[in-house]
Amino acid sequence: MMRSCKEVTRLVSQGEERDLGFLERVELRMHLAACRGCRNASDQLRFLRRAARSLQEEDEHTAGRA
Ligand SMILES: [Zn+2]
Repeated sequence: MMRSCKEVTRLVSQGEERDLGFLERVELRMHLAACRGCRNASDQLRFLRRAARSLQEEDEHTAGRA
């Protein structure tokens, strides 16, 4: 019972917002191991999220100092 690519990318983005359940993580990993498209998509998503977050933190830092 594999998840579709669409579901998997959704899970990846949800995983940035909340803790995924054990089964969700297993399914995600299995799909990512087999599907290069989703692996690329999830890498990109993580990169974007991290970049956005560090920008936000920088803002807060600057605001705190001002
Ligand atoms: Zn996929």
